[in-house]
Amino acid sequence: MTNLAANLATTAEQHPDALAVKLDDFELTYAQLRDAAAKFAGKLAARGVRPGDRIALSQPNLPTFPVIFYGALWAGATVVPMNPLLKPREVAYYLSDSGASVMFGMPGDGQAGAQEAGTDYEVVDGSSGGGAGLLGDADPLPEPVERADDDTAVILYTSGTTGLPKGAELTHHNLDDNARMVAAQLVPIAPGDIVMGCLPLFHVFGLTCGLNTAVVSGAAITLIPRFDPAKVLEIMQRDRTTVFQGVPTMYNAMLAAAADRDVDLSSLQTCCSGGASLPGEVMRKFEDRFGAKILEGYGLSETSPVASFNLPDRPRKVGSIGVPLKGVEMRLAESDGSDTPEGGIGEIAIRGDLIMKGYWGRPEATASAIRDGWFYSGDLAKQDEDGYFFIVDRAKDMIIRGGYNVYPREVEEVLYEHPDVVEAAVVGVPHEHYGEEVAAYVVRAPGSTLDAETLIDYAKERVAAYKYPRTISFLDALPKGATGKILKRELRDPA
Ligand code: AMP
Repeated sequence: MTNLAANLATTAEQHPDALAVKLDDFELTYAQLRDAAAKFAGKLAARGVRPGDRIALSQPNLPTFPVIFYGALWAGATVVPMNPLLKPREVAYYLSDSGASVMFGMPGDGQAGAQEAGTDYEVVDGSSGGGAGLLGDADPLPEPVERADDDTAVILYTSGTTGLPKGAELTHHNLDDNARMVAAQLVPIAPGDIVMGCLPLFHVFGLTCGLNTAVVSGAAITLIPRFDPAKVLEIMQRDRTTVFQGVPTMYNAMLAAAADRDVDLSSLQTCCSGGASLPGEVMRKFEDRFGAKILEGYGLSETSPVASFNLPDRPRKVGSIGVPLKGVEMRLAESDGSDTPEGGIGEIAIRGDLIMKGYWGRPEATASAIRDGWFYSGDLAKQDEDGYFFIVDRAKDMIIRGGYNVYPREVEEVLYEHPDVVEAAVVGVPHEHYGEEVAAYVVRAPGSTLDAETLIDYAKERVAAYKYPRTISFLDALPKGATGKILKRELRDPA
């Protein structure tokens, strides 16, 4: 039995009364979550859903998410998670591409998308305490359907390094293995732990590190349907949350939200950051303010996701994504696949049980991403003498100015050091003489009168002449994706 949903069955048997999922005053124990998922599986089977069928799931972080997710897996189906904010044509694309037979989504845009794709749609509005009609009344409850190690559990749409979104096929084994590694190696998670679930569960970071890790270890997850830093702080203080996982912009937002109030986060054991580079300044300020240590890690949708981490049993290095997890291999490669010479910058290549099966229906894209068993990430990094990796930038974010490589991340770090800078993003913009020019977008602290010229001078004193930003635009907020990652492509190409 390799069905990922068997983890829920096992945990529910061992800890039936332990809290599994919490949203405001609504709580589900492990026994309740298991029963709900099994009933939902029974309903899917009665509807004619067969093992391997694709089921689209579009919910914010509401209790209906884990019920549908584990219920669909329980029935042997493959889940296609989607951001509920997708527009109809995006939904239609994901549905047609994955060949989903039914979509469980919120009222609204999803429905129009399903109509366009000719896919059945069931409205599940988990936000209004709904979802009870979801369950059906299977009696006795079915067992999880047997699945093989390399059967696909989830198809996650990601842009990868290039092109249109592609469906990364993650197997039952990929996801099970990564959740177990996270629970054992990153921050030991056990029954009694409370995980803050503010990362979206439809994204791989929240799905594996939040939900699946809680389920394999019998911990509870507190769901937050929409990230609101003040609310997250309030809940973490109230519930005495022990584990926080987030992307860098979340840490920044929580710092800002805590500026004018007392917040006690002394229950936090560890905070994990990933998904984007955590600026050293943000890490330092957060740790000074809350006394909780942040450990940074790295991964992608295609790697289930966690590949490397500042493991707690080794010295932490600020600015580093740490070392590969035990059981994962990671190296720097040249474009022909050979090893990057020592001390050089190369592309991160990863090998191990965490690597996706491939891109759904795209053998060519799969063959170009996975070569000789190594997955090529599109991320550029260096490695120090202790084996720690340091992300330099994404290959596609690198700016080439007059033949020189500028890594935006290095310039962003400098901008973040300025006390009036709350958020910064550096991108390349077309330039007739240099090919590309360095441009920065900055969010200032409230009330700051910092002007572009002063900030340009500040950067100019700290980085080489070809690197400092020639233009700085001040914005009220930077465009962000579903997890809170800054969307550089929208800054480069506002159209
Ligand atoms: P996704 O597939 O949406 O999870 O995005 C994966 C991408 O996020 C990677 O290819 C990296 O570019 C980026 N990423 C993840 N973790 C980090 C990190 N700690 N530092 C810098 N970039 C990161």
